[in-house]
Order: sequence, then C-alpha cells, then structure tokens
Amino acid sequence: MPEAIATANDVAPLEAPRSRSWRCSDCNVSVSFAADRAPHQPDGWIKKSKRWVCLRCQRERVMDMAASGQGADGWASRREALMEFELLRTPDESDVVIAKRANCSTGHVRKARKSLVDAGKLKK
Ligand SMILES: [Zn+2]
Repeated sequence: MPEAIATANDVAPLEAPRSRSWRCSDCNVSVSFAADRAPHQPDGWIKKSKRWVCLRCQRERVMDMAASGQGADGWASRREALMEFELLRTPDESDVVIAKRANCSTGHVRKARKSLVDAGKLKK
C-alpha cells in the first residue's frame, strides 16, 4: 500500500502540541497551522522589524498613507495605492484579479501596471 494516503485519522487534533501560529502586531489577528502543514509564513504576511503584519493591515497602511499624502484625493487615492500595492506584491496575477482586489476596472489596472513597468518598479 502507498504510504502517503491521507485517512480520516490524519486530521490534526484540535490541540495539536506542535503547531505554528502567527499574530499580527497591528490588529492582533492570529492564524495557526499544524506543524506539518504550516507554510513558511501565512499568505501575504510580512515581517517588519521582527513583528508580523497581516495582509489586511498592510493594505490598510498603504491606503492610509496614500489618503493622507499631499494632493491626496480621498477614496481614489486609497484605491490607487491598493492597486499599486497588489501589483507589486503579486505581479503575476492578471489585471482582472488585481482589479477585483482593488475594486476598480481592469483598464485602471492595465494603466497602473504600465506606469509601474515604465518607472522600472515592475518587470514586464
Ligand atoms: Zn493585521
């Protein structure tokens, strides 16, 4: 019999002694995984000066920064910032996916992608 077949008994117990967890230093949200299934880090999380920051907080942060900058245009600036953040974070995602995340049109994303490429911030 092959060894790597998962069975019903293969589910990690609720209080798995060996699990890995992460806590966001900003909003305190936490995620945990069984040790044998834990990713290198939670999807989209980053470590900043030894503290983890979840994806949501990173998004909030770039949007808040954009909205408080000079010449900021409220919601439009926030959306723009989120779109740019997502393009730089996951450059391989399609314009459609980025547009959904930033809640804007694919035309907007295409334009933003092009200007990031032109500015040398993004590879073609
Ligand atoms: Zn957070």
